[in-house]
Amino acid sequence: MSRRAKMRDMNPWLVALPAVVTTTAAGLAAYGAAYPRAQLFGKTICRTNSRRKLAITFDDGPNPAITPRLLDLLDRYNAKATFFLIGRYVRECPELVQETVARGHLIGNHTETHPNLFRLTPREIRIELRLCHGAISNALGSPPSWFRPPFGMRNPWVIPAARELGYRTVMWTLIPCDWQEKPAEWLIPRLQPIADRAQRSVGSGSNPAVAGTGDVLCLHDGAHRQLNGDRFRTLAALEHWLPRWRDLGLEFVTIQEAVSTPAP
Ligand SMILES: [Zn+2]
Repeated sequence: MSRRAKMRDMNPWLVALPAVVTTTAAGLAAYGAAYPRAQLFGKTICRTNSRRKLAITFDDGPNPAITPRLLDLLDRYNAKATFFLIGRYVRECPELVQETVARGHLIGNHTETHPNLFRLTPREIRIELRLCHGAISNALGSPPSWFRPPFGMRNPWVIPAARELGYRTVMWTLIPCDWQEKPAEWLIPRLQPIADRAQRSVGSGSNPAVAGTGDVLCLHDGAHRQLNGDRFRTLAALEHWLPRWRDLGLEFVTIQEAVSTPAP
């Protein structure tokens, strides 16, 4: 029996320890990769700087089947939002992207083909970001400054690659899973936490500008698997909530406004 094998016989911890370390490291990596507010793999924006400011964000568009109706709905409540777009869809409907900006909304990069970036090499990540960057720049005449990783997945190279292109990375406080094929009646209560927090901050009389605690809501006007995805439940849920949120005193802002001067 070798000396090392003898030691293992004597102390079971020496056998168990590498497994514990590996499991802990894997757990930490999974947290950094997927947990929306994790900052392990780089700094991200997860909240607005005032409880009065709600940043509504939409991923996976542009979507000719939904986005125009959504723009009309947002106009009705003077709501400004942020749209994280898929590059290959931007190439198919650049006019819709121009229209979105003309109506006062902000555009962000959501990669070219919507892969899970956790599994990609630094070079592949750069290509995904640059292709979408080019598509949006061509459509609008200038590049965006905001990025959201598909599925919220990051590895140690994602945020640095985004930073190279001048992006700030945006995550969220609430993601109600509006892509699930369920009725609007299922989705509507999943957005309740926003109203609850707004009511609490009014009730407590707390300073809305303190601690940067406003919500960033992640919804989807597109579907990453195909153009013209069905997102009517998202539209219906917003039709329900926008007037209620407005009555609670929330302001609907872009991510840019969400991190600029706090509301008075
Ligand atoms: Zn997405």
